[in-house]
Amino acid sequence: MVDHPEKYDYNRAKVPGPLTQEMEAKRLEKKRAQKAQRKQREQAQREEQQRREQEQAEKQRFAALSDREKRALAAERRLAVQLQDTGTTLANISRCWHCGESLLGRIPFHYLDFSFCSTACLQTHRRAQAART
Ligand SMILES: [Zn+2]
Repeated sequence: MVDHPEKYDYNRAKVPGPLTQEMEAKRLEKKRAQKAQRKQREQAQREEQQRREQEQAEKQRFAALSDREKRALAAERRLAVQLQDTGTTLANISRCWHCGESLLGRIPFHYLDFSFCSTACLQTHRRAQAART
């Protein structure tokens, strides 16, 4: 009908009007919108699936920790909350007890429960402790 508008008497044959370009455009537009919606739904499902897998992996990692490690984690969390309450933010609490140097990626020096970046810091701290007692 669109290709041969004059060929037949469409009115007499009671053929409904041709698909105009506008209608065709609307139909395509609707199709595109549906496709976009479907894509969005699939994306959301993928993200949800990823979240579930991550949660599952974390669950297993946590369950595999020793009781000592779980306790340490809980204590760290409590401390972080306490520090936040007092307005102190410390992203890294693994630091030299004497000078505050970060101990991340280092092999710290220990005595008792204390950790230090260097033997100099350790000795200064130990001398101060000894002087106090
Ligand atoms: Zn130090």
